[in-house]
Amino acid sequence: MVRETLLGGQSPTPEDDSVLRPQLLQEMVGQQEVHARLKIAVGAATKRGDTLGHVLFDGPPGLGKTTFAMCIPRHLDVGFQIANGAALKAPKDIIPYLTNAQEGSVLFIDEIHRLPKTIEEFLYPAMEDFRIDIVLGEGINARTINMPLKPFTLIGATTRTGLISAPLRDRFQIREHLEFYNIEELTEIVLRSAAKLKTRVEDSAAREIATRSRGTPRLANNRLRWVRDYATDQADGHVTLQVARDALEMLRVDELGLDGQDRKYLETLLRVFHGGPAGVEAIAHTLNTATDTLEDEVEPFLLRSELIVRTPRGRQLTVAGYDHLGATPPEPEVQGELFR
Ligand code: ADP
Repeated sequence: MVRETLLGGQSPTPEDDSVLRPQLLQEMVGQQEVHARLKIAVGAATKRGDTLGHVLFDGPPGLGKTTFAMCIPRHLDVGFQIANGAALKAPKDIIPYLTNAQEGSVLFIDEIHRLPKTIEEFLYPAMEDFRIDIVLGEGINARTINMPLKPFTLIGATTRTGLISAPLRDRFQIREHLEFYNIEELTEIVLRSAAKLKTRVEDSAAREIATRSRGTPRLANNRLRWVRDYATDQADGHVTLQVARDALEMLRVDELGLDGQDRKYLETLLRVFHGGPAGVEAIAHTLNTATDTLEDEVEPFLLRSELIVRTPRGRQLTVAGYDHLGATPPEPEVQGELFR
């Protein structure tokens, strides 16, 4: 992932990721309301011997959508398949997943907003009636065969619910939005991950890592791994507050958890666009980055932290944004009272 490569090559290997990933819902930290609702839905489906309704998770990357999706089939004790919306180009690509689905099993489609419209439409009868309509032949000889499927649960994950068409969105019975984690929750995640990695991390150091992880468990785990490496190489392997600070300083992660890319975004908005408003495409062009990357990975936390706001005319720095960059905000009549 782009962001991870920017973090000093701290991209996790799949093995590392599976070591730290919670296996059951009760091992997941935070997101209590989501957890509670899923527990009830899963419990009820199990008691009734029914197939769980389709589930849609949305929220910024690294907040636990895949992890929740992977926990659910373990609780239901059913099979699990994973597909990615970006890799599915035509209905024929998804047919094997649908026909392989066992009774009650889970099909997880990550980045479901990237499914082409043809697959979306192909999925409607699969989701609603557990049936697919396959067209054979062409022109006047074309005929449609209805193929029954075993009842299954589709779990979709997306960073952009806005890009999912309403008919697809409405076919998910359970829709859950994942929010950024607070410092206490992230500290708990860092301490649990440190234990799994057999690394001694002082509580104050865990809190420091959590504070600088932009509310995101994936970043907290990646930063912990970097701090652990730093502690092993530069100290005795024990992560103290000072070691954590020095290691994160070297990654150029600031006290709000912003990294080089986040700061470059803010600095560009200030320097090139005089604080905004500026369209995200223009910012992306200037940064030579994909618009999607900015919208998915950079802006959600900057918006949440109120460093920028979205206006009808584009993105704009807030007073807190100017402060964070050590710059002076323009006079109210220039920027407008609204954002003070
Ligand atoms: P997403 O699918 O939303 O991009 P993931 O589910 O892949 O995010 O989560 C990234 C990593 O963060 C996981 O491997 C897991 O280790 C960790 N993680 C996510 N959510 C939690 C949580 N609630 N509790 C503990 N660890 C979590």
